[in-house]
Amino acid sequence: MIFMEGNCKGAIFRGNIEYVTKKFGKLGLEKLMVDMKEKRHRLDLNHIIDGNWYPMATRMQFLKSTVELFDLDEAQILELGKSGFKQSAIIQIYLKVAGSPKKICKFGPKVWSHNYDTGRLETEYGGSEGTYFRIYDFKGDPLLCTYLMGFYTAAYENVGARDVMVDEPKCPHKGDEFHEFRIRWTP
Ligand SMILES: [Zn+2]
Repeated sequence: MIFMEGNCKGAIFRGNIEYVTKKFGKLGLEKLMVDMKEKRHRLDLNHIIDGNWYPMATRMQFLKSTVELFDLDEAQILELGKSGFKQSAIIQIYLKVAGSPKKICKFGPKVWSHNYDTGRLETEYGGSEGTYFRIYDFKGDPLLCTYLMGFYTAAYENVGARDVMVDEPKCPHKGDEFHEFRIRWTP
């Protein structure tokens, strides 16, 4: 049983559920629900409501069960993270308004606090050589860190950045105070 503080919006499941259904079928999604239920996180993945809050612990179990059940490697976890970005309606709206690497930085913190009631995102625009996303007051899980690297890659690809590279120089799971994601691309 996973314990994690806070809640997240249903919207962030949407792209992931599509990813699982596309790759592993409806049966895969059923298996995922059974596995989550066995781990005491009951969740109806066919009826997630975008604007509702869901416990972070359940969200984390969803990611863990997906990775374990379908034996996802690191590249596939990044893909799962990318899928989370592509389908999020609220982020697409922000993107329409924003639409540049710099503006993703500007709107990033708002998108975070819209989707999570825990942790805090701060961004530092440093151009294609190094733009930083830092998440404070949120321990999370190493799996979620990998997922977010995929998510931020998709965000930058979506506004036309090429050869996007995301790494995580700092992380609470390596003894740092916060998560620091560094985003670089070809301008
Ligand atoms: Zn981290």
